[in-house]
Amino acid sequence: MPGNWRTVAPKAFFFFQMGGFMCVQSPPILAQKGGHFFQISPFCWQPRNVEVIVLGYHRFGALPGGKDTLAIQPEVFRRQMKALKESGITVISMKDFLSWRRGEREIPARSALITIDDGYISGYATAWPILKEFKYPFILYLYTKYINVGGKSLSWKQLREMRDAGLEFGSHGVSHENMVCPRTLKEGDYQSWLTNELEGSRKILESQLNVPITTLAYPYGSHNIGIVQSAFRGGYEAMFTVNPVPVHFDSPSGSLGRFIISSTHPETFRNAVRTLNCTGGKTSTSRRTFLSLMAHSFLEYLKKTVH
Ligand SMILES: [Zn+2]
Repeated sequence: MPGNWRTVAPKAFFFFQMGGFMCVQSPPILAQKGGHFFQISPFCWQPRNVEVIVLGYHRFGALPGGKDTLAIQPEVFRRQMKALKESGITVISMKDFLSWRRGEREIPARSALITIDDGYISGYATAWPILKEFKYPFILYLYTKYINVGGKSLSWKQLREMRDAGLEFGSHGVSHENMVCPRTLKEGDYQSWLTNELEGSRKILESQLNVPITTLAYPYGSHNIGIVQSAFRGGYEAMFTVNPVPVHFDSPSGSLGRFIISSTHPETFRNAVRTLNCTGGKTSTSRRTFLSLMAHSFLEYLKKTVH
């Protein structure tokens, strides 16, 4: 039946309305491809416009003899936090990051997550006051053997104080051993050791802090497909490496990139920010592909109906 613009226009309107409806309604699909997990939402292209840099810190304070590469001087840390603000980068919480990854909400196109590993007291005493100045959320990745053991470790009391202030926590294992090749595991069952590192640490943190623990930072970033699968089975939703690449909507949840900031390589922070300044918020290839497919199919439809 021949069509004209008067009959085509309502159909086109319906077509795009349905696109919007499916975008909101379609749940993310967890698909396994080539040994890696991808979270994809086929009808919703909007979150693909977003880029997130995940910054990984450890200790804060003066450098003893300049040798502690993972200790960041407080004034350097404050300058970096200020640089995020001045670059127009939004620091988001893990809760918002995960909601975005699930396709449940949008986040600013140029976003950053701040993570602090290992559970040193300087995260509480030095970094937290600076982060409060900027009203930035952050997440602590804790290995449970190093909690409440004195010295430079954080106590459960301090962690509960941070929890009550709305801060978030993730697991960094039990022992901080390399999960691919643990040094201290001479005999015994590797899988039960790994299960304890993943699930045991999660259960300790959840019972002591009474909050859900759904993300993990691999010690030293070490992981393989077996560890990724065990972590998903063990109740984790997102796992972080030390691979300095930004996170996109379709980045594999089992090996998300993270920029580890050290005092000897200040360029890592600059590169992370530069990455966002360069590509964050720009239309991604996948979005362009999706839009061109949409345009192509709509033109095909017009060709068939308009005479
Ligand atoms: Zn660590």
